Amino acid sequence: PIQVIKILMSNGVMANINQQIDFDTAAIVVSELGFEAVPESLVEEEKVETGEIPLWRRIILSEKPESLIPRPPVVTILGHVDHGKTTLLDAIRNTNVAEGEAGGITQHIGAYQVEHKGRLITFLDTPGHAAFTAMRARGAQGADIVILVVAANDGVMPQTREAIAHARAARVPIVVALNKIDRPDANPDFVKRQLAELDLVPDEWGGNTLVVPVSAKQRIGLEDLMEAILLTAEGIEIRANPKGKVIGTVVEAQVDKSRGPIATLLVQNGTLEVGDVIVAGTAYGKLRAMFDFRGRKIRAAGPSTPVQVMGLSEVPEVGELFTRYDSEREARAVVEQRKQEAAAKAARAPKATLEELFSRVQAGEEKELRLILKVDVQGSLEPIINSINDLPKGEIKVNILHAEAGNVTDNDVLLASASKAIILGFNVQAESSARRLAEAEGVSIRLYDIIYRLTEDLEKALKGMLEPET
Ligand code: GDP
Repeated sequence: PIQVIKILMSNGVMANINQQIDFDTAAIVVSELGFEAVPESLVEEEKVETGEIPLWRRIILSEKPESLIPRPPVVTILGHVDHGKTTLLDAIRNTNVAEGEAGGITQHIGAYQVEHKGRLITFLDTPGHAAFTAMRARGAQGADIVILVVAANDGVMPQTREAIAHARAARVPIVVALNKIDRPDANPDFVKRQLAELDLVPDEWGGNTLVVPVSAKQRIGLEDLMEAILLTAEGIEIRANPKGKVIGTVVEAQVDKSRGPIATLLVQNGTLEVGDVIVAGTAYGKLRAMFDFRGRKIRAAGPSTPVQVMGLSEVPEVGELFTRYDSEREARAVVEQRKQEAAAKAARAPKATLEELFSRVQAGEEKELRLILKVDVQGSLEPIINSINDLPKGEIKVNILHAEAGNVTDNDVLLASASKAIILGFNVQAESSARRLAEAEGVSIRLYDIIYRLTEDLEKALKGMLEPET
């Protein structure tokens, strides 16, 4: 700021640190500092063209500016395992949901809302990178703000760095919750130095990052955290047109034995109503009923509101976008077309799936089953490799070509394609580009969240009994 003010003054503008300056003046200042200024509107347009902006944001951008009104910020919590994400989500939920209801809210539908000083904040309550990445992979990017939980006694860890990378790639601002400050071994200053090294310089040190000391367990600092979220929200455009085109993201979905497919949707623009017909991926249907996060029946949900809906034809994928259609006929036609396109694509791709590889092995064309293994954390590698090696193999050798922590990337797919291997993921996602590449290359990516299922499938494959992938 001092440098900027100096240049302004040398140009005859007696500016103070809070002053707004126009574009032309700013352009002169930055050019003196060796940069080129580009108007934000152009940057936005460019981003829209390159498809960097998620579709729902593009929809909002295409709305008339005067129709846009502020909506609650949508917040997601990321951080290293055991740093307190779940505890923090529960603490916020129990502390800030209106009096008398706290005890009643036991169901987790994937998102909830709290009120702080008369303003709403929407929390996505599936902590962890998987949910965030799933959303990002489909270009949905549901969150406006990321809360990065860092344990004050443990500091920056591998998944902390990953979370920062995710948030930055999605261009979502980060608020740091410095958790577990109640612990005797907490060392907040040490952690702040670590954060500063990662370019998250705490505001008290002159940086832009709000670092809020909290104890999720003892519920200390939660008000400050809410305050920091609202402050951050003020700095970014968090708007939508409640009367505009209805679009949003699938936050959670499952089949309920008695009620059929159930999905939690986050409305991002427009207002979703009971009786609306929506399409999410290849799921469609007329919404028979909607519930808020307290499980209460509601008839309409505006921007940033999470709702649980009934009436879809199948379970949509998490992270999938949904939009409203005028009639069930139209929706069905869209879904039919999507299914046909997917089938045509699958038919074009040469298959190198697990079951295919196995049949080649059986025919004597292959003597080994090559695997690429991707897992969530380094610590998962050894137990999984051990259980793979423990499988009864008979004639066939299992060869693990590559094993590491991290999501399935393009490189993994290329390696698999080149070496006719299949990719097994444990608690990870496939990046969207990797997924596309795999489809084109006919590489099989199988993702698991239970080790037993992974080894069970492999065992079946080794015995030649594996059901084809669906
Ligand atoms: P997650 O893996 O990030 O979701 O972490 P959890 O919320 O499951 O918390 C991991 C452990 O840290 C649990 O045993 C919590 O009780 C504990 N924990 C979470 N927050 C705090 C805190 O503020 N103080 C202390 N002392 N322990 C905490």
